[in-house]
Amino acid sequence: MDEDCHVYRPGVLDVVGGRIEWVGEATVAPATDLPERRVGGLLMPGLVNAHGHSSMTLLRGAGDELPLARWLSEAIWPKEARLTPDDVWWGMQLGCAELLRAGVTTTCEMYLHSRAVADAALGAGIRCVVTPGIFDLPGAGPGATWQRLLEDAAQLHEDLDGRNERVCVGLGPHAAYTLPSDGLTAVAKVATELDALVHVHVAESRAEDEVVRKRHGCGAPELFARTGILDCRVLAAHAVWLEDAELDLFARHDVAVAHCPQSNAKLGSGIARVPAMLARGLRVGIGTDGPASNGNLDLWEELRLSPLLARAVACDASALGTIEALRLATSGGAAVLGLDCGVLAAGRLADFVRLEFDDAAFVPARRDGEILALLVWAASSRLVTDVWVAGRHRVESGVCRNVDEPRARREVATRARRLAGA
Ligand SMILES: [Zn+2]
Repeated sequence: MDEDCHVYRPGVLDVVGGRIEWVGEATVAPATDLPERRVGGLLMPGLVNAHGHSSMTLLRGAGDELPLARWLSEAIWPKEARLTPDDVWWGMQLGCAELLRAGVTTTCEMYLHSRAVADAALGAGIRCVVTPGIFDLPGAGPGATWQRLLEDAAQLHEDLDGRNERVCVGLGPHAAYTLPSDGLTAVAKVATELDALVHVHVAESRAEDEVVRKRHGCGAPELFARTGILDCRVLAAHAVWLEDAELDLFARHDVAVAHCPQSNAKLGSGIARVPAMLARGLRVGIGTDGPASNGNLDLWEELRLSPLLARAVACDASALGTIEALRLATSGGAAVLGLDCGVLAAGRLADFVRLEFDDAAFVPARRDGEILALLVWAASSRLVTDVWVAGRHRVESGVCRNVDEPRARREVATRARRLAGA
């Protein structure tokens, strides 16, 4: 996924200290005394999940067929109010295993009890941008005001950001409709002081967008401009119901977007205008959203759905290109998070995955371009066999080395029953 989308056959990848030192054709690879390993198959950058709440494995299946507002207030928030840090840790362990086995090496997470999210991600071996949720809702649990959640988030940033190269900490103001405007102003101030990523839901459903416009006399983008949020590094999740002028405003402030087509489709929220965003030069990545609003954490589905929906809506087979779709899942995701992964090139983070290449999905591809196209249209997570994060082998022959998956499944099942029953 370098600029020219080179394919090296056969290729060599040199990894030293968690970064890629050299990549290219095997015939011209530099000699080395370091251990060599023949892995076969197809190596590509690990996928980057730009928007997730992976601990919601605890709530998978909740509230099917409800629209966003009722899904949140009836099926999700009452259960989230009863979550403990231990619940979130186990939910995230199971989520990380699912992500890693699908070839996702980085995930950007917004949730409650974020110290547990970060701990679980570190333990599982995934790379994680942790953005503690900040909002005024019963779901935050008793006594949790947005002020306290913001203080906790700033404390987590101080404790964890930069301490381990696999975890960084941003801020997760939930949305324009779940925080008062003075809360948004306060978040912007802290984010500026910390130079932290601001990860926020934006215009996910039409009903939500109408609530914001009625309350503030403008849409979320204008409200974010007024409260200083747009002066920060912003990652806007969803961004479905935005007008041209609002996309222009985002472009002027270099706002990045996490496109979540499967979650948006499942909740009947709509389809974000990704081609219009890319035409304005916006950075765009793709996200699963949580496993409760998506169904699973398999980012290959978003990788395919993004061009499928864009082309179906535009009645144009070139509306979102095949290589562009691959970029959304890899280098695009890295760009929206400000990370050095998503490309196999010297100097980049050594996050990469191996796919089985001896499969019908790649028959009869011969030219490089055909292989890249079949990666999008015929391959899937089922072909991912091995995963490395920061050069460390995290999934080996389909098995997640750092997560006790049978135990995680039992823990999540037991905890989910408690959350559903009370
Ligand atoms: Zn979300």
